[in-house]
Amino acid sequence: MTRTIHIIGAGISGLSAGVRLATAGHTVHVHEATQLLGGRCRSYFDGATGLTIDNGNHLLLSGNHHALTYARTIGSQTGLVGPEHAQFPFIDLRDGRQWLLRLNDGRIPFWVFDRNARVPDTRPRDYFALAPLVWAGTDRLVGDAIACKGVLYERLVQPLLLAALNIDPPMGSAGLAGAIVRETLLAGGKACRPLVARDGLSSVLVDPAIAYIEARGGSVRIGRELRELVRTGERITALKFLDDEIALAPADAVVLAVPARAATGLVPGLSAPNRFRAIVNVHFRYDPPASLPPLMGVVGGTVEWLFAFPQRLSVTVSDGERLIDTPREELARTIWAEVCKAARIEAELPPWQVVRERRATFEATPEQNALRPGAVTAWTNLFLAGDWTDTGLPATIEGSVRSGDRAADHVLRM
Ligand SMILES: Cc1cc2nc3c(=O)[nH]c(=O)nc-3n(C[C@H](O)[C@H](O)[C@H](O)COP(=O)(O)OP(=O)(O)OC[C@H]3O[C@@H](n4cnc5c(N)ncnc54)[C@H](O)[C@@H]3O)c2cc1C
Repeated sequence: MTRTIHIIGAGISGLSAGVRLATAGHTVHVHEATQLLGGRCRSYFDGATGLTIDNGNHLLLSGNHHALTYARTIGSQTGLVGPEHAQFPFIDLRDGRQWLLRLNDGRIPFWVFDRNARVPDTRPRDYFALAPLVWAGTDRLVGDAIACKGVLYERLVQPLLLAALNIDPPMGSAGLAGAIVRETLLAGGKACRPLVARDGLSSVLVDPAIAYIEARGGSVRIGRELRELVRTGERITALKFLDDEIALAPADAVVLAVPARAATGLVPGLSAPNRFRAIVNVHFRYDPPASLPPLMGVVGGTVEWLFAFPQRLSVTVSDGERLIDTPREELARTIWAEVCKAARIEAELPPWQVVRERRATFEATPEQNALRPGAVTAWTNLFLAGDWTDTGLPATIEGSVRSGDRAADHVLRM
């Protein structure tokens, strides 16, 4: 039976649910409140730099199976580019020291025993001391599970977990950190190749999904803010938007794929994370030197990751609350000085843009993680998706696609 499914929210969670349902032959209508598609994962033209930039640099890993299957389905997997092997160049801004972390492809971590592949000044036993994180329960803090100090922590564990959890690691959920370690370091180098949407997030992860849904008889509309889910007994029977109302047929279903705050306003009694963390990105219009790798880990400064895109150098700072009130130009100048050091360039401040996403991710603590709901609701034709739902992962693209796939699978079983 062909159903009509309404997806509320055109972020990656909503789009991935839509793609899966359209693939199964259902008619999908996506309703997005804003004028932009892609939610927290989108590109736009920026006047200050004269470039199309992303709201934030997004890093995927080759082990993000749901995200890669999504990209393959919509035909854009070649837009996710990265090195052939899991290699991560790093620099310490304090002493200029550089190193290349090189994970071998297989699951057995030979790299840990190779002083030219592992983090300099570390020993194999430092890596085995991370084991408690792998099995840590969801109620534990990272800081209770492992010692958050030492060279390995500073040069690898802290940068990895800060990027994944978007919170100072000791305060983060050991359960979520463990999931990251299991799916990356423990899964072997094959799962850890870094991948970026070199030509922009929208052209790789958003626009092809819209084309895919529309080509299968569906629609994706902007300026459509859902105001109310009309509930009758055990079902959602209508959707109220600002200007119109859609009545649902008995077989129709709804996937609510909006952020946590919007979802709690629409679904009575819904438990959801209510604390969030910022991410700051600073973009510079500057042709990257040929010697600069596409991605570089930076320690010992404010910059955490330096991305080299065509015509643009771009920086990510996670858990960016402390930078929210820094005047924009001051921030751009400080970061540019660090970029020059890391990339070994000497240049005046080029055209720049600072993007501060205040609610980039839910706070990945054990308390907030415990508030995440599953996909099923008290209404038989309403399912939840979103990076903040209980995916077992922190707020990531992979988690978003998993949530979208899961919500779609519930609809398919209806
Ligand atoms: C700066 C930044 C950097 C990041 N870096 C990474 C990274 O490197 N790697 C990674 O994996 N992840 C990263 N993430 C996380 C990733 O972007 C998110 O997990 C993902 O985009 C969330 O998608 P979503 O669909 O769940 O939510 P959203 O993208 O928030 O989508 C929800 C959509 O619902 C819409 N909406 C809200 N209310 C309504 C309503 N009433 N009616 C209709 N529509 C509504 C919203 O406008 C929005 O478009 C980053 C996020 C940010 C902000």
